[in-house]
Amino acid sequence: MKTLILGGGMTGLAAGAASGLPVFEAAPDPGGICSSYYVRPGSTERHAAAPADGEAYRFEIGGGHWIFGGDPTILQFVRRLSPMRRYERRSAIYFPDTGKYVPYPLQYHLRYFEEQVATRALDEMGRERGEVVTMADWLRESFGETLSELFFEPFHKLYTAGLYTDIAPQDAYKSPVNLETARQGATGNAPSVGYNISYLYPERGLDHVSRQLADRCDIRFGKKVVSIDPDVKLVGFEDGSSAEYDTLVSTLPLNVTQQLAGVTLDQRTDPHTSVLVLNVGAVKGPECPEDHWLYHHETSSGFHRVGFYSNVDSSFLPASAREREDRVSIYVEKAFQGGDRPSAEESRAYGDQVVAELQDWGYIGDAEVVDPTWIDVAYTWAWPGSTWRREAMKALEQRDIYPVGRYARWSFQGIADSIRDGLMAGGAFPPDS
Ligand SMILES: Cc1cc2nc3c(=O)[nH]c(=O)nc-3n(C[C@H](O)[C@H](O)[C@H](O)COP(=O)(O)OP(=O)(O)OC[C@H]3O[C@@H](n4cnc5c(N)ncnc54)[C@H](O)[C@@H]3O)c2cc1C
Repeated sequence: MKTLILGGGMTGLAAGAASGLPVFEAAPDPGGICSSYYVRPGSTERHAAAPADGEAYRFEIGGGHWIFGGDPTILQFVRRLSPMRRYERRSAIYFPDTGKYVPYPLQYHLRYFEEQVATRALDEMGRERGEVVTMADWLRESFGETLSELFFEPFHKLYTAGLYTDIAPQDAYKSPVNLETARQGATGNAPSVGYNISYLYPERGLDHVSRQLADRCDIRFGKKVVSIDPDVKLVGFEDGSSAEYDTLVSTLPLNVTQQLAGVTLDQRTDPHTSVLVLNVGAVKGPECPEDHWLYHHETSSGFHRVGFYSNVDSSFLPASAREREDRVSIYVEKAFQGGDRPSAEESRAYGDQVVAELQDWGYIGDAEVVDPTWIDVAYTWAWPGSTWRREAMKALEQRDIYPVGRYARWSFQGIADSIRDGLMAGGAFPPDS
């Protein structure tokens, strides 16, 4: 029996390393969204590995990728590929009109607001919940009108590219609501909460982990899948070649695999959002925050999150800037409705606008690198009551195509869980199965 793995991101690499099966990857390098890459100050050329002199910013395709959560065995597996450091989250919400930074999550730091606002918010959060169909309903019912209008609605409008009034609520654990903790945070310190209170990052960069995994794989780069024929069991590649199979493990997004395999369903496909990540290396500005990342709900450029790679670890900076602490490296995320990709010209104009906005806030001085990347399927959502995800997976499995990983299964999960799923799938399909 011949099994092939499609996609060489973290899921596909883990599956390939566990099984020895061939992995077909469209890009010239491993790692998918988690790929780190390097750009010298003043240059636009990307390098897959750090230059020997270390004089380059390290960025990631999908913005800062921090390893949170994860089964202890998976973390140990990653540690064996590369030593890692642990970091404690520093994150806040920025209110540009007042210049105020409220630590994340907002609902547990109400002491940063006027007393009347905090009292109203606590009253509203203590109310019995009404009916919830959409994410917008969930925000109002969970956080109340005051906090929703102050932050949650405008933020989710940006984060979901306007879909929040139509999609089902999901991932509630990312922003928990516990009234006792909210009361505690209205007068004093509340304990840190959330799925990413602390996290790991490889000492030599995430690219080191993906290369280590790729070295353990039979991986073929530059192999973009353009068709899957489930009747004759043939995968076609953009370069004109093809490969026969008995079973496929696909780590490509579920909607993409469904379309490649020509599977039609009655259900409306669930929506997704794309993200334009702007990677910036710059002179550090006088007001540059010390946070690892900030959430934004009021930006003239339309982004919703700014992360500071170099506030997590100075190894993201060019070697000569690490001691001087006069440079900063940043990722800025802006969401678009699925596949609504701006042109190169629009991306450039957006980059200029973001740099001006960050300069205006005093985060940066002159920019040395401004490099946009595009994640076509970044966040996956569901219409209320949708059965599309289940039906699409079932239809593919009936054709011996097994979707594996975050995008393939249309669910939210981090790197560690993606590696876990890849290892599990690899173990389930050894080469002679
Ligand atoms: C904006 C953003 C921020 C994130 N931040 C974090 C974080 O801080 N921490 C964390 O743990 N997780 C984070 N994640 C999640 C993390 O990126 C995923 O869990 C992980 O990358 C999933 O890996 P994957 O291999 O399943 O998918 P991918 O990385 O998407 O890999 C799929 C691979 O398939 C290839 N491919 C696509 N189409 C084809 C084709 N037609 N033919 C052949 N190959 C193809 C792609 O090139 C890619 O290499 C974030 C995700 C996003 C979108």
